[in-house]
Amino acid sequence: MTLEGSRITHIFRTGKYIIMELKKAQRWSNDAEYLYLLTHLAMSGAYLINTTHRHERIKFTLDDNVLIYKDMRYFGTLKILDADGLKSYIESKKLGVDAFTKTRYDFEMQLIKKVYEPRYKRKTIKNLLLDQTIISGLGNIYACEVLFASGIHPLKTPAEIGFNEIKLLARNIEGIIALSYEVGGSSIKDYTGVDGQEGGFSEYMEVYGRKGQPCNACKSTIEVVKVDGRSSFYCPTCQEVG
Ligand SMILES: [Zn+2]
Repeated sequence: MTLEGSRITHIFRTGKYIIMELKKAQRWSNDAEYLYLLTHLAMSGAYLINTTHRHERIKFTLDDNVLIYKDMRYFGTLKILDADGLKSYIESKKLGVDAFTKTRYDFEMQLIKKVYEPRYKRKTIKNLLLDQTIISGLGNIYACEVLFASGIHPLKTPAEIGFNEIKLLARNIEGIIALSYEVGGSSIKDYTGVDGQEGGFSEYMEVYGRKGQPCNACKSTIEVVKVDGRSSFYCPTCQEVG
């Protein structure tokens, strides 16, 4: 399948997937047909416009602009799919509830329903927040920050967390993701927006990447614990185990 001659008609997102809808060039047929370019940026992927980059992997020549995809570590995913292919790919990922496409009430309720499912009872809340089949779109930085904002220790299990705490988590997920969107995301490695600007969310990080530094709320020393190989930064006082 080729994208040559096609027109970008729509760009949307589900979970961590960015999807560009492209109307195919109609050289051979009058049928309107669409293709979808699906992207998962993973650790180091990003789109940039009208520039070059030493880790540039793909270049899209548009009418008046050049769009490049750069990815230092090659963990990103790009796929060209037709409508059926896109549907089955997304379905196969069994994406959980997306904080940005639900009303707050729906989001809270769906989260409560999921987290207390018996199959998750031995999992830690940190595991659950990163599980894309439970909540789609939340990454490690935001999971750490959401737990801090909610005063919940990352190693707590669902049985140790009450309904009201889950509701608080839901509200903090919504609030923290909204804030990050507003300030252009997190530039921890070398992420930038398409305009090359770094994201400003690191200024708002209370725990992520702050091991050994004093908590802004209580001055305790920020600690880190590994959960499934991912570093979980937390304040031992603000996020007590008991
Ligand atoms: Zn603290």
